[in-house]
Amino acid sequence: MSERRPDALVGENIASLTPYVPGKPIEELRRERGLEGEIAKLASNENPLGPSPKAIAAAQAALLEAHLYPDGGAFYLRKRLGEYLGVDPARIIAGNGSNELLEILARTFCRPGDHVVVSAHAFVIYKLIAQASDLEISEVPMAPGLQMDLVAMAEAIRPDTRLVFLANPNNPTGTWFGRDPFEAFLDTLQRRNLRPLVIMDEAYTEFATAPDFPDSLRYHDRYDRLVTLRTFSKCYGLAAFRVGYGVAHPSLIDYMNRVRAPFNTGRVAQAAAIGALDDAEFLAASVALNEAGRVQLKEGLQALGLEVFPSMANFVLCRLPRPGAEVFDRLLQRGVIVRPMAGYGLPDCIRVSVGTAAQNTRFLQALAEVLDGEGQGG
Ligand SMILES: *Cc1c(COP(=O)(O)O)cnc(C)c1O
Repeated sequence: MSERRPDALVGENIASLTPYVPGKPIEELRRERGLEGEIAKLASNENPLGPSPKAIAAAQAALLEAHLYPDGGAFYLRKRLGEYLGVDPARIIAGNGSNELLEILARTFCRPGDHVVVSAHAFVIYKLIAQASDLEISEVPMAPGLQMDLVAMAEAIRPDTRLVFLANPNNPTGTWFGRDPFEAFLDTLQRRNLRPLVIMDEAYTEFATAPDFPDSLRYHDRYDRLVTLRTFSKCYGLAAFRVGYGVAHPSLIDYMNRVRAPFNTGRVAQAAAIGALDDAEFLAASVALNEAGRVQLKEGLQALGLEVFPSMANFVLCRLPRPGAEVFDRLLQRGVIVRPMAGYGLPDCIRVSVGTAAQNTRFLQALAEVLDGEGQGG
């Protein structure tokens, strides 16, 4: 009898998975609440400038070759990335978003029961992927101020640890670590003779303007089990195309290439990514708009008396005097989509992506109204 139950097909690790909850799509909000005016989606860290125009032109040209399978090895994209980053293309792998590369890393380098280290309040995908692969997860609490605690993470690493996930800046907190703590972390590994794969998830690195922000690519010589992951989804404005890349020692890339699907990145997506790399102007405009918007949001939230966490990303996390889910819901009613954070262990926080100046203003006004209504039971 029991083997007829659908869950007899899967292990406990799969049966107990909670699916990832993405930011609420604009279309869905319209449908659900019958909202008609403009909706500000500040929930998924998308680029408020839209996609890079050069990327779109390149993608349009590639559409005429849509009948052809893509170059599975993404030769030209890796070549262009190699020039751009100053890295041998043999050290680069393209992925269907950097999300896919996280999965490929787990599938390539881990066996069921292997140990991985993640930080609390980090990107939930790390835990999801580890659980799906039936890995043992150590989740290390953050230091005060929602800072990733690299000292405690280094301590949590054991001789059998396979993967350590570091996000810099971190999503959803926006907080980041500088060169000193990162170098001390690598020194600890060396001193303790530990050799896990250290995955530096740098999805937001283009937005990080702090002078001591580390570029993990500069550390591959020093630690050859370092993996740098980046994406075209955020600063380049190409989230719909699903392209990211990883940089690692050629022998690691070689193993990952054996595991990945043969055509994991599409032809149009590869063309768009190459076009985006040629669009330095768009990148600079995105970074400048973000930096101004980050300040606008921080000051606006602080003016409302809220705690704001320092961010080097294209979003800001803030703490509220009432449950984030409730504030999220009331903002939806006003046509503003943010991200509630209960799923990240931060039930009194919301994360808001940096939008255009007008979107940021609209969010701050809506939030002021929502919080104002508190005394009147509103
Ligand atoms: C958005 C994001 C990614 C990757 O996104 P893709 O669209 O899959 O490239 C990876 N890590 C973090 C922390 C992110 O926020």
